[in-house]
Amino acid sequence: MLNIVLFGPPGAGKGTQSAKLIEKYNLVHLSTGDIFRANIKNETELGKLAKSYIDKGQLVPDEVTIGMLADEVNKNTNAKGFIFDGFPRTQAQAEALDTLLRNKNSSITLMLALEVEEEELRKRLLLRGKDSGRADDQNPEIIQNRINVYNAETTPVKDFYQNQGKYKGINGIGEIETIFEALCTAIDTNK
Ligand code: ADP
Repeated sequence: MLNIVLFGPPGAGKGTQSAKLIEKYNLVHLSTGDIFRANIKNETELGKLAKSYIDKGQLVPDEVTIGMLADEVNKNTNAKGFIFDGFPRTQAQAEALDTLLRNKNSSITLMLALEVEEEELRKRLLLRGKDSGRADDQNPEIIQNRINVYNAETTPVKDFYQNQGKYKGINGIGEIETIFEALCTAIDTNK
């Protein structure tokens, strides 16, 4: 299996690049943000719970997020591999993902981290908020809170994969196509 963690701060371009990568490598895209938003739209219990955190720019609790992600992985028994987008976002999530994949005799192949500085992220998120309608992208305070949560809770996940020799940083500034090529080169040289 080819299992990629696509990592990076909010607004780094994970969703855009995931869409291109799943097509090229025939992978299943699991975006925890997208799954939460689908649940919010359908007004499920999970959606109601997730919304209370997402609207404040906080992380949804680990046990909820890990359980949901595990269900999604288990649903896709025939997958050739996965792109994990927006997951893992905490050390506990990274450990849970390792265990989940190990039980399937699989593992994470590579973490690709899109690197974009904060000022650019704030600009991109506000711009996205204008046409996406995403409430968490429209308020500068909530955006800043997400960036702070990323710096405090999510950055350690990078060390987790670096310690396993699986971390690769990619410049997330520039043309979408150029960034995509850099991601593909990283994947292809790792095979
Ligand atoms: P972005 O990367 O732009 O912040 P996402 O769509 O990945 O957007 O996530 C939106 C929100 O969903 C996050 O701010 C957070 O509240 C919640 N969320 C997504 N993934 C996770 C996760 N792995 N753990 C906890 N909360 C999550």
